[in-house]
Amino acid sequence: MLNRKIGAGMALVAGLCAAASIASAQTNDGEEEFITAKQEQTAKRLIEKGLRDDTAWTLLESLTTQIGPRLAGSDAEARARDWGVQTLKRLGFKNVHIETFELSYWNRISERAEIVSPFPQKLVVTALGYSPSTPAGGVTGEVVRFETLDALETSGADLSGKIIFVDEAMTRTQDGSGYGVAVQKRRRTAIIAAEKGAIAALIRSVGTDNHRNPHTGGAVRGGAGLALTPIAALSNPDADQLTRALRLAKGPVRVLVDLQTEFKSSAVSGNVIGEIPGKSDELIVVGGHLDSWDLGTGAIDDGAGVAITVAAAKLVGDVKGKPARTIRVVMWGAEETGLWGARAYAKAHEEELARHVLAAESDFGAARIWKFQTRFGEGALAKAKTFQRLLRPLGVGPGDNQASGGPDVSPLRAAGVPVIELYQDGSDYFDLHHTPDDTLDKANPDAVQQNVAAWAATIYLASEMDGGFRDEAD
Ligand SMILES: [Zn+2]
Repeated sequence: MLNRKIGAGMALVAGLCAAASIASAQTNDGEEEFITAKQEQTAKRLIEKGLRDDTAWTLLESLTTQIGPRLAGSDAEARARDWGVQTLKRLGFKNVHIETFELSYWNRISERAEIVSPFPQKLVVTALGYSPSTPAGGVTGEVVRFETLDALETSGADLSGKIIFVDEAMTRTQDGSGYGVAVQKRRRTAIIAAEKGAIAALIRSVGTDNHRNPHTGGAVRGGAGLALTPIAALSNPDADQLTRALRLAKGPVRVLVDLQTEFKSSAVSGNVIGEIPGKSDELIVVGGHLDSWDLGTGAIDDGAGVAITVAAAKLVGDVKGKPARTIRVVMWGAEETGLWGARAYAKAHEEELARHVLAAESDFGAARIWKFQTRFGEGALAKAKTFQRLLRPLGVGPGDNQASGGPDVSPLRAAGVPVIELYQDGSDYFDLHHTPDDTLDKANPDAVQQNVAAWAATIYLASEMDGGFRDEAD
C-alpha cells in the first residue's frame, strides 16, 4: 500500500483538494519525501486540469483528419511535420524545429491474393512493410502451412516453388506481451522462406481481431532493406479460411499472390521538436511518433501519443514560473518502418544524453493508463513511490522497474537514460493497430483526458523533483 489517505478511491477531484494540505507529512508507510507540499498541490491541480482539457482530442482530430495516414518518408508525413511545427508554435513551445534524417522508403501499390484451386475465391491480404514486389501478375503456387514459426524454421521440407503460410496466432493480453512473440513471425518468415526457396510467404496477421482487416507492419528490421521474399499478412478470418481449405481439399491448394510495392533506398523524414525552457538545461523528454501505417489514419498508433504528450506538456508549461528542468517534446518520425527517428534522435543528441534526466514515449494506443512503471537506478527507486501515489486516484497502479519507455526512447534507455512508462490498457490495442480500423472513433475522449492528466502530473514531478533518476548520488 502507498498513501492510504489518497489511495482509497476514485472520488477524484474532491479527494485531491482535501489531500493537498497534508502533503508534506511523512506517509504512514514510510514513503520518503521528494517534493514539497506546494509541488504536490500543483501536481494535483494538473491532474484536475488534465481531466477537463480537450487540447489532446482537438489535436488528434486535426492530425487524423487534416493529415490522415502518415507513412514514413511520404509527402503526408512531411505535411504532418509542418502540422507539428505549427501546432507546437501555436501552443507556445519554444525552439521549435525539425531535425531531418534519411531512411529507406517503402510503399504499397497494390495487393491481391486468391485461392486458385480447388475452391476459387479471394483472400484479404496486405503486404508487409518492405515486402518486395512479386513479378507482374503475381505468383501462383501450392500452399504449405506451418502451425508456428518454429515449425517452419525446423522443417526439412523442400519448399522451392511453394507459397508458405505461417499460421501462428497472437495471444490477447492487457500488457501486449503477445506482440513481441508474434513480431518474430513477421520479421523471420521472409528470411526463412528465401532460404528454403519459397516464391512468396503469407502469415496470419499479427493481431487479435476477428475482422477481415489484415495487419501490416515491418517485415524486416530497420535499415535492412527489402525483405528477401514477397510477404503479406492474411486477415485472421482469411487465415482461418485458408486453413480450412487445406483441411477440406483432397489435394494441393494453390494460391495466387500478387504484391506490387515501391522502394527507394533514400528518402527524407524528420523529428519535430519543441521545448518548454526550464531553469536548467537538464531535459525531460516526452513524445509520440508522428508517422503511421497507411491503412488507417494512425489515431491510436500513434496520433494519440503525440496529442497526449503535447497537451500534457502544454499544461505543465502553463504553470506559473519556469519548470526546474527543460521539457522537450519530440514527435518522432518514421517509427513504424524501423525506428529511424529514434536512432536519428539519439545520434543527433549524443553529446547531451547525460543531461537527459528522464525520457518516455506514449505509444500504446488511447485507452486508460492502468500502471506506472519505471526504469530508475536502484538508488533512485524510492522516488517512483511519489509518482505512484499521486497517480493512484486516476486508477493507475504501481508497476515494476522494468519499463521499456516506448520504442522511440529505446536507444536512450540503452544509453542509460532513465525511462518511465504510463502503461495503457492494451486489451483491444492489437485489434486495431496497423489495420484500416485504426481511426479516430476508436479513441475515447475520457480515456484520452485521463492520459493527459497522468502525463501532466508525471512530467511536472519529473521536472521538479530534486536529483535525477539514475541513482541517489545524481
Ligand atoms: Zn506506434
